[in-house]
Amino acid sequence: MLACYHLSSLSKKILAGRLQTMWRYAELLPVADEENIVSLGEGWTPIHSLQKLSAHLGINSILLKDESVNPTGSFKARGLSVAISKAKELGITHCVIPTAGNAGGALSAYAAKADIKATVIMPAHTPETLQEECRMYGAELILLNGLIDACGKKAKQLAAETGAFDISTMKEPYRLEGKKTLGFEIAEQLNWQLPDVIIYPTGGGTGLVGMWKAFKEMQQLKWIGGRLPRMIIVQSKNCNPMIQMFETGIFPETFTAEASVANGLAVPYPFAKDLIQQVVHESNGTAVTVTEEEITSGIEDIAVNEGLLLSPEGSATYIGLKKLIEKDYIKEDETVLLFNTGSWYKYR
Ligand SMILES: *Cc1c(COP(=O)(O)O)cnc(C)c1O
Repeated sequence: MLACYHLSSLSKKILAGRLQTMWRYAELLPVADEENIVSLGEGWTPIHSLQKLSAHLGINSILLKDESVNPTGSFKARGLSVAISKAKELGITHCVIPTAGNAGGALSAYAAKADIKATVIMPAHTPETLQEECRMYGAELILLNGLIDACGKKAKQLAAETGAFDISTMKEPYRLEGKKTLGFEIAEQLNWQLPDVIIYPTGGGTGLVGMWKAFKEMQQLKWIGGRLPRMIIVQSKNCNPMIQMFETGIFPETFTAEASVANGLAVPYPFAKDLIQQVVHESNGTAVTVTEEEITSGIEDIAVNEGLLLSPEGSATYIGLKKLIEKDYIKEDETVLLFNTGSWYKYR
């Protein structure tokens, strides 16, 4: 179930003088009473122009939306700000989340602010900083062997036993609503001209599906015209079921599901696999696999050229771009938007 709105009143002009957080779009978010908004200043993140890399790769414009400057250092802040605000509004007192790392930290921070109890279930191999931040925010942290799917099973079991609310990716509707604000911001920050191509590092697909929902809502509001970006998904070779699903049309029966340096991409069984597939198809997009080595070398490449340190997931979008230029899928006169979804500093 996706959240629906009566879209009419909000005009582009009204937005101009508003709060410089994602809550500038409050009418398009599901919180009824603004008293319930739990915000740490998320959203309205910068879009950088990667001029040197654009020149090197011979592309009109490479843009990068830098989500690492969000509270708790990743774009998970968007989803969890909305989900925890709504949880507060609904009187929920305990949330449980399975996570590859960043969602756990974000839940912990927003839950702390909202006086909601947080239980975070994370793979034991997750970098120390991502574990420690949850403890610092007072969350209960449970470590498991395996990937996020194992954590998801444990979350379901704990929710059944304790009555905690399971806030897993796409199993409740509100994290998607928060991620949707990525789409509004890209349009507004680029003066309502969407890029030709968007490359998204895909785990559970919330941002991808969320942006697509935002584009549809903006069309209904007549904020943008009919032409939408081609939506590209990137995953690591260590765990790329969505790429395989794109290529064959069906979700693979067996595939390698190993950990990745890009922790957020190692999601073996995305709950929203059909919605992800639908967005890629409908947008006339495609799917790219990158290797662990490429992800690591991409971080250096961007750092020395552009002065920006990307998370491994962010680097994956850049490597995906390079591969699609080589294949001539992206043309030299096109504008491409990449994402840095998290902070490099957390992966230690
Ligand atoms: C969670 C995460 C992703 C994947 O996002 P989805 O919306 O689950 O596809 C990518 N990058 C980082 C840094 C993440 O934390």
